[in-house]
Amino acid sequence: MKTIRLKPGREKSILRHHPWIFSGAIERVTGNPAAGETVDVVDAIDNHIAKAAFSPASSIRARVWTFDPAEEIDASFFSKRIDTAISLRNNLHIFNSKNNIGRLIHAESDDIPGLIVDRYDNQLIVQILSAGVEIWRSVIFDALIQQTGIKNIFERSDVEVRKLEGLEERVGVISGLMPRPEIAVTENSIKFLVDGVHGQKTGFYIDQRENRKAMQAFAAGKDVLNCFSYTGAFSVYALAAGAVHVTSIDSSEEANQLALKNLALNNIPIEGATQITADVFHELRTMRDKAQSFDMIILDPPKFAPTAAQVRSAARGYKDINLLAFKLLRPGGTLITFSCSGGVSQDLFQKIVADAALDAGVEAKIIQYLTQGPDHPIGLNFPEGSYLKGLVCRITK
Ligand code: SAH
Repeated sequence: MKTIRLKPGREKSILRHHPWIFSGAIERVTGNPAAGETVDVVDAIDNHIAKAAFSPASSIRARVWTFDPAEEIDASFFSKRIDTAISLRNNLHIFNSKNNIGRLIHAESDDIPGLIVDRYDNQLIVQILSAGVEIWRSVIFDALIQQTGIKNIFERSDVEVRKLEGLEERVGVISGLMPRPEIAVTENSIKFLVDGVHGQKTGFYIDQRENRKAMQAFAAGKDVLNCFSYTGAFSVYALAAGAVHVTSIDSSEEANQLALKNLALNNIPIEGATQITADVFHELRTMRDKAQSFDMIILDPPKFAPTAAQVRSAARGYKDINLLAFKLLRPGGTLITFSCSGGVSQDLFQKIVADAALDAGVEAKIIQYLTQGPDHPIGLNFPEGSYLKGLVCRITK
């Protein structure tokens, strides 16, 4: 049998059901397991405590499949895990007459480390981020088709983190038809076109669904600036909720083009919206220099710090845009600010925003905390699964 034996004391995180085994925790690997192969995990005195997928190229050397050493890792194992994840979404009524997009499987937090599955109406888009999932791919695809009844599966495993697992990028049709270039979806009764083949992530930032809705409570009658607007989701929601005008900034021309289509699709008059293709850091300075101002600003930047190593430069980036946003807000204005950086904790993010307000010379209160939607659950023993943090701040002075 192929086995990973842990150093004394290093079994503790496994006993707390954290799924990652770092290379430094391993005393010895026996049996020469291949990438992705299932290994028994034993502690320093040979108690069998888990089964995991081996990943020789990664510093996360193994990801636990099960903390029950008696459980077999086979097709029925994956079928059960996928069923549990899909049942959760069904119980939460994520998919209904008003909403046909959502995340079906959220990797470690759904106990399938390295597997992301997003559903866009009758199209599934998958990302495989670990060596373990890679070798079980066809079993997993079969189970997905069987359990969702959806035949169209497209793979978007074109992400940097695959390199850390020693995997090449993979993109293409797994089953069914090539996705339409613009998949028509409905999120909270608002229509969007999603480019699942070329768009960012799997095509849409599904994790912001609940936050877009929350934002609507502050939007009526307001002059809004939406920074890092991608395909205009926050902009469309704000205008649908009665915002007077929304200015959207994104550096991607393709995203801005799709944003215009999304506005039209929801019958939003074009006069209500201004699209700017630019660098937000630069554009906010230009706006400040022109003494422009807004009632509400949304900041939803890309990941500045995917891991803890980039935290310092990320903190500078967050501080910069939040400071500029506070300066551009009118008295009584609202800032809705996000970080999706795994390396930046909720605490740190709040401190950065507090510093930004201080330096901008405004007093502001947090009136709401925001997080990822319920179809992006967070494993209780996997805090890394909590990555999206948002603050709604109201300027009081
Ligand atoms: N708020 C969006 C998602 C934003 S994702 C939504 O709800 O759908 C981050 C976006 O920032 C991407 O669209 C990316 O093109 C854009 N981006 C990244 N760096 C940027 C920069 N420096 N200036 C402007 N846009 C940037």
